[in-house]
Amino acid sequence: MPRTIYLYNTASRNKEQFEPVHDPVGMYCCGPTVYNFAHIGNLRTYIFEDVLKRVLLSAGYKVKHVINITDVGHLTSDADTGEDKMEKGAQREGKTVWDIAEFFTSRFSQNLKDLNIIQPDIWPKATDHISQMIDLVKELEKKGYTYRTSDGIYFDTSRFDSYCKFARLNPESLRAGERVEMGEKRSATDFALWKFSPTDKKRQMEWQSPWGVGFPGWHIECSAMAQKYLSLPIDIHCGGSDHIRVHHTNEIAQSEAATGKQFVRYWLHGEFLVLDKGKMAKSDGNFITLDSIKEAQIPQLAYRLFCFTAHYRTPLTFSWEGLQASAHSLQNLRSMVPDVDNCRQIDNGVIEKLLHPFYMAVYDDLNMPRAVAALWDLLRDRAIDPVVKRACVSCADEILGLDLLLEQRKFSEELIGSDGVKIKLISESRLSDTDKINIVEKIRIRKAARESRDFTTADRIRDELGGLGITIKDLPDGTTECTIPASVPG
Ligand code: AMP
Ligand code: ZN
Repeated sequence: MPRTIYLYNTASRNKEQFEPVHDPVGMYCCGPTVYNFAHIGNLRTYIFEDVLKRVLLSAGYKVKHVINITDVGHLTSDADTGEDKMEKGAQREGKTVWDIAEFFTSRFSQNLKDLNIIQPDIWPKATDHISQMIDLVKELEKKGYTYRTSDGIYFDTSRFDSYCKFARLNPESLRAGERVEMGEKRSATDFALWKFSPTDKKRQMEWQSPWGVGFPGWHIECSAMAQKYLSLPIDIHCGGSDHIRVHHTNEIAQSEAATGKQFVRYWLHGEFLVLDKGKMAKSDGNFITLDSIKEAQIPQLAYRLFCFTAHYRTPLTFSWEGLQASAHSLQNLRSMVPDVDNCRQIDNGVIEKLLHPFYMAVYDDLNMPRAVAALWDLLRDRAIDPVVKRACVSCADEILGLDLLLEQRKFSEELIGSDGVKIKLISESRLSDTDKINIVEKIRIRKAARESRDFTTADRIRDELGGLGITIKDLPDGTTECTIPASVPG
């Protein structure tokens, strides 16, 4: 019997007890449009979805997880105008659309691995499912939900009574906005199911259809792929909060109009990662990727922990300082795990009891800030037997995915200066010569200050180093032992 989980359902705007209809639980996540690298904002959404999946698994469910690859049809404007992002990306890179799709898909898959995101069971590509999309549009046409304009086949939203319900749209204000870029559409909310190839230029990706040569609309792609791999009603459908208003509203309308069945039971949306300056957008070309984090010599999993500093339903502001702080926390968490052989059989009941606050947090709509705080409490508790503690961390890490039991590889070096100063440097990663010189210089000044009883200067240096996560211990033989974290900032 799986454990009880509560999830916030965008459809009802309420936290609900999760009761799936399928075994395994069907879970569909809108995937990347592969015209560029994923930015860390996109990755925040996939981390939240991964935590959701791990929580379901830990609660005793089996999960069938689908993430699609959008490799055609996502236009630069939600109003069904503008260029296809893929064709535009191919021009930018001077490659074929197929080549950039393959390249950015493989980069995306690597990002998931680097962030310990469990790979989905199925990765459908939109371009492999054109016939399913055409069939769905044919069904909608048969039922009278479509009309034709000079540039495509459109869904008539006025025929779908509950169109405004999901996103809580106000029909009055929508009508007021109808003057904007309507083209031949009958209503501003109508959307393209099939677009005709332009007559003035040749597209790289286009297909025959009963209505003419062209390509599918972005929304129909997800409806067709979701229905091909998961039975209706789909238990869970996720994405970023930007999808509520248009993409998911349209997925619901066309799927329910075509099948007459409920499309999805639980809708979960992750809030955005923002920069101080505002939104991070892939289309701007000015964004932070996981590779930028690696280049800054910060462990990529520190970003996963950084995402746990806010609830998935609240916006999170990115800063390098915040990420650096998460890198230190990750290192501290790992160093607090007792280094003991986990050979003893431990009663599951004992682990469950100690991890009760942790599980209460994750099963309460994935409250990761609370879950991480519960783990700190457990690690700080000296009364817990080290073997039991390590077993608890191992269980918690099945949800956290932070490699908390990773062996800390330490680099150690003993230096004796010509002035007789003895320093032992212990670091989590190999130090650059500049870092080494800077640290040694500071320790020398501190030692000299102590010898001349200038404790203000000595303490100031200790605090400065402490601010960088560097700790100092004065050993009885006069050696200064200095422990340095994996990434020394600045
Ligand atoms: P895309 O590749 O642009 O289709 O987006 C992939 C996923 O990332 C979608 O679920 C989006 O809703 C989500 N997303 C886009 N930008 C952000 C952001 N800044 N923060 C969090 N999620 C985002
Ligand atoms: Zn989608």
